Amino acid sequence: DPTKFADWQIAEEAEKGMKTVYELADKLGLAKEELLPHGHYVAKVDYKKILKRYEGKPDGKFVDVTAITPTPLGEGKSTTTIGLVQGLGKRGKNVIGTIRQPSGGPTMNIKGSAAGGGLSQCIPLTPFSLGLTGDINAIMNAHNLAMVALTSRMQHEFNYDDATLAKKNLRRLNIDPHRVEMKWIIDFCAQSLRQIVIGLGGKMDGFMMESGFAIAVSSEIMAILSVAKDLKDMRERMGKIVVAYDKSGKPVTTADLEVDGAMTAWMVEALNPNLMQTIEGQPVFVHAGPFANIAIGQSSIVADRIALKLGDYVVTESGFGADIGFEKFWNLKCRFSGSKPNAAVLVATVRALKCHGGAPVPVPGHPLDPCYKEENVGWVEKGTENLTHLINVVKKAGINPVVCINAFYTDTEPEINAVRRLAERAGARVALSKHWLKGGDGAVELADAVIDACNEPNDFKFLYELSTPLRTRIELIAEQVYGADGVDYSPDALAKVKAMEADPETSKLGTCMVKTHLSLTDNPNIKGAPKNWRLSIRDILTFKGAGFVVPIAGNIKLMPGTCSDPAYRRVDVDVETGKVKGLF
Ligand code: ADP
Repeated sequence: DPTKFADWQIAEEAEKGMKTVYELADKLGLAKEELLPHGHYVAKVDYKKILKRYEGKPDGKFVDVTAITPTPLGEGKSTTTIGLVQGLGKRGKNVIGTIRQPSGGPTMNIKGSAAGGGLSQCIPLTPFSLGLTGDINAIMNAHNLAMVALTSRMQHEFNYDDATLAKKNLRRLNIDPHRVEMKWIIDFCAQSLRQIVIGLGGKMDGFMMESGFAIAVSSEIMAILSVAKDLKDMRERMGKIVVAYDKSGKPVTTADLEVDGAMTAWMVEALNPNLMQTIEGQPVFVHAGPFANIAIGQSSIVADRIALKLGDYVVTESGFGADIGFEKFWNLKCRFSGSKPNAAVLVATVRALKCHGGAPVPVPGHPLDPCYKEENVGWVEKGTENLTHLINVVKKAGINPVVCINAFYTDTEPEINAVRRLAERAGARVALSKHWLKGGDGAVELADAVIDACNEPNDFKFLYELSTPLRTRIELIAEQVYGADGVDYSPDALAKVKAMEADPETSKLGTCMVKTHLSLTDNPNIKGAPKNWRLSIRDILTFKGAGFVVPIAGNIKLMPGTCSDPAYRRVDVDVETGKVKGLF
């Protein structure tokens, strides 16, 4: 009974009976040399060998799990992703999950580690939550090495005249200290490192300038890990990262710093996906973990590619609500990978629908307002405007939406019937799912709806072409996906967007929006499906290596802050067994 235990206790119990990586590899039909074990229960797999062996084999069905605009508590997307994998398993399907690796930031702060919950979890929980096989460490090393290359080059160019530089075989890059685009990274929510001064001291202590840290999962290297097709593609992308601009306004890249080869060297192992399992024993690839509000929000294309060869059904997840996570899955990830999804699951909870309909916004770490325990069909009906808006967004991609009502024990029948009626009226299949409470057995209604949706023909198409001018594309996303009337630019952003449109190379990149996940608008406090508003673009970054430009809407920060009651207060270790407790 999952209502009596914390998620980590359920995971600990399930781990007693979990499969070894050798058993999982047998189930997947992997050859011996394709499995790279990290202990008994986690392995990396050699994606290249697997792809070679399955060359020409048709892909399995591809399902993306997304959600309505969530509350800060999360609405159960990861839980539903794992639950659906287990439900399809109960229906006898050869199914694989592909999910993101969590960031240490939220794991130690508010949101927990995104392994799912209740009887739908990815295990073993401790390695999943605490760094797994070191991919994020590799990203931090590759990224911070670029910063070392940049800052030491600035010092050397400042200290040496042209003749000395020439003797050292160095070309003067003339980096403008006021136009350094890249920051350092760390994988925690460290608000005090957002803006810092570096290079204090003497001539040999670096070049003094303003700098800062972003969270590791927002790094362009993380985005590259999620979109690279293979090592060759990753190597090419690694040299295109713009770290700064020179004094004449030209971009300075990682290739100009001659650091791109070494950065890739840190990443070779990280490109192999990590194999784990659900608590009911289905395989799950955990690989790459960019957030969806400040990054691309998708697990890796490499993991999807191998899963689509090895499985008949592949269930993946895109971060946060469909406005940001699914939009990037649709227009960026599927464009880069060439994969065509068959269906999208929109997770909705009665709790979040009530919040969109007028109930007070839940605050993490505080007890839920008692009004959430009382039936209120009016709030639910009003809040369903957010769900129907996002059903229409999925339909614009030309694929079939399945609404999953992720059941909580406080939901009442009239509330659930209201969601069902309104979602069906908007043209979606609807399933009530109890995977949190019952595991795969609770998810068979959802699994059946997904199987039906996958067997129906669809007409997957992008919202924009790469030839669409940048401002038109941003308007299309704002109007068609967020429901805005138009877009306003800050003077700074307008100057940048015009320069990007004039540059033939940049104008062909994809568009990865940065926006709050807590509202369809750029203001986290506005709920529902608001009308009569305009999206504000404050700044635009260029991620040439990842292959997109990044318009930043509203006030969102690339380094979140740690709150006053963070999750780390409840994490500890049993010193006899070495087991970690308190993770969620
Ligand atoms: P998301 O992926 O949407 O952010 P998660 O799947 O991580 O959300 O779930 C957020 C939290 O809510 C987790 O702690 C999970 O255990 C809990 N949760 C999810 N679904 C249910 C449910 N049906 N009943 C009770 N708790 C749930």
